[in-house]
Amino acid sequence: MARYFQPEIETASHEQIRAWQDERLVKQIRHVWDNVSYYRQKMEEKGVTPDDIHGVADLHKLPFLTKDDLREAYPYGLLGKPLGECVRIHSTSGTTGKRVVAFYTQNDIDLWDDCCARALVAAGADNEDVCHIAYGFGLFTGGAGLNGGSHKVGCLTIPMSSGNTDRQLQFMADLGSSILCCTPSYAAYLAEAIEEQGLKDQIHLKAGIFGAEAWSENMRRDIEEKLGIKAYDIYGLTEISGPGVAFECEAQSGMHINEDHFIAEIIDPETGEVLPEGSKGELVFTCVTKEAFPMIRYRTKDICVLTREKCPCGRTHVKMSKPMGRSDDMLIIRGVNVFPSQIETVLLQQGYSPNYQIIVDRINHTDTLEVLVEMNADMFSDSLAKISAAEKELILALKSMLGLSATVKLVAPKSITRSEGKAVRIIDKRKI
Ligand SMILES: [Zn+2]
Repeated sequence: MARYFQPEIETASHEQIRAWQDERLVKQIRHVWDNVSYYRQKMEEKGVTPDDIHGVADLHKLPFLTKDDLREAYPYGLLGKPLGECVRIHSTSGTTGKRVVAFYTQNDIDLWDDCCARALVAAGADNEDVCHIAYGFGLFTGGAGLNGGSHKVGCLTIPMSSGNTDRQLQFMADLGSSILCCTPSYAAYLAEAIEEQGLKDQIHLKAGIFGAEAWSENMRRDIEEKLGIKAYDIYGLTEISGPGVAFECEAQSGMHINEDHFIAEIIDPETGEVLPEGSKGELVFTCVTKEAFPMIRYRTKDICVLTREKCPCGRTHVKMSKPMGRSDDMLIIRGVNVFPSQIETVLLQQGYSPNYQIIVDRINHTDTLEVLVEMNADMFSDSLAKISAAEKELILALKSMLGLSATVKLVAPKSITRSEGKAVRIIDKRKI
């Protein structure tokens, strides 16, 4: 079985990877300067020209791009190639403001497919596999990306798209689907449906590639157990091409970023300063091979950590942690970065529902953090002593996760105010 899709690239030395990045970055900045007037203007405002960029070491001199820039430049302002050379678009769901429309040349599609093929091979796929793609097809990148990768690997590809669960299960059983690609929540749903319909003996999945949503290690274990598979994470975003920007290998401990195409940086989301490797901060990507939509220093708002520790799989490309939250959601409490997702993880680990409220205040010039947590229905009748013991347990668990002391108050079930069905998570009284 093939271990790597492109072994000479995936296991290249760090020096080799850096040499590719240096050469491609210089070429890309020239391309963008010549063809993308929106970004050229940003470079001019910052007083930097292509002559200042000799390699990755100069990356920090370049201006950032943000989602606001994408909205402002909509639809053609960041296009790097004439429309005559573009062959496809994809688009984000655009729940807030204008949609992001990303353009692709045939070469862009080809390289994107390579990235997804690397992810599939890392999950154990080869040409004997039946790759069942239950990501949505259409403007969303999930279906098209994995579909292209699956073709490259030579899998028999089933472009199912999402929905119609009964038909999904029937095809899985009849055609022998072995690799499942979809969102983790849909994988969990399919797992339940398989159990309910008693189809477990007829379905022979061996691995799944699940992305486009945040999911926890608990959810991974749950899906793996129920479907009898290995579940792999995949990362990507429409602005940077789609799924396959980074993917998990057999080590299942972080995702290898395809560094021959994407240069990753971690920055302080407040100051924009580049942080040393191993720091937690906002992930920024520069695409060095994309032609039609060449994002330079695009701020993803995802908070994560990069690591270059040797990976047992033999791949040498840097690994990113699962995103720990969005920089938009980050709270700074007594100088410590706190994400609601960290608090949520602790609550789920301790067996509580994810209905909580974080109250931040400043009392006598010191930030305070209080977490209100809805107790489970069966705790409601517990004695005060028992509830107080449960609160102490949560305080300890939060301290170990956040590196910060919080107070915890267990409140009655369903007592936290909800808006549109969801609990209002954060009340920051320092801003009032
Ligand atoms: Zn690895």
